[in-house]
Amino acid sequence: MTLPPKEHIHPDYIGMMLNHYQWLCMKPRMIGHVSDLLMCIRARVFSELDPKRPGKRKMNMYSSGKSGHETIQSLLASDRGRFEKEYLVEYKGMTGSVDVYDKRLNIPIEFKTPRSSGLIREAYDYNVIQIKTYMSMLGASCGIIIYQLIANKDKDEETDYQGFWIHMTTKEHLEHLELMLARLENLETAIAVEEPAIADAVYDNPKLKWLCNGCPYLEPCQQMR
Ligand code: SF4
Repeated sequence: MTLPPKEHIHPDYIGMMLNHYQWLCMKPRMIGHVSDLLMCIRARVFSELDPKRPGKRKMNMYSSGKSGHETIQSLLASDRGRFEKEYLVEYKGMTGSVDVYDKRLNIPIEFKTPRSSGLIREAYDYNVIQIKTYMSMLGASCGIIIYQLIANKDKDEETDYQGFWIHMTTKEHLEHLELMLARLENLETAIAVEEPAIADAVYDNPKLKWLCNGCPYLEPCQQMR
């Protein structure tokens, strides 16, 4: 039997995974997905103008979140006549895909897998904005965010999955879509003129300023405040 060349005996499999993940992340992306509009618009502008290679921590969150996410989607959407996974929605250049869409009742369902170790008291703001956007696009009066706590330490297994219903009126649909289109315009303009400073930022938003802690663009962002 011929042995492989010495440099191939211990291939760097994790490095190979990371290379592929970085390639996925660095691929040019269309602007206008709902996920572009939920967090910090300025960070999204920076990432378009000056993309940074993600590291292993981000890959860890991506792979663990994605596998759990796809599994719970499949558990609910086994009735294909009623449910549709990754249901595509579009409104005036804004696009998105609903995790699972209950076609019979016109209810969008979003799954999240936070690392929270206990009870979630209220749905996270950016998750609410996302489901409201899908509800508005679908004309749905209610939608639900279901959290699966993958690191739950609570003894009560009932808290492993927590659902939060969201309700909206038709008037609220229209107002919400206007708000999201204004965010999209802000994002597109800042990218077009290559000026992150004019993009909405979250550093003074009490619910989202935690994003600045791990932001790779913190330094240039601070210089433009
Ligand atoms: S530092 Fe904060 S406000 Fe600035 S781009 Fe990053 S996340 Fe946005």
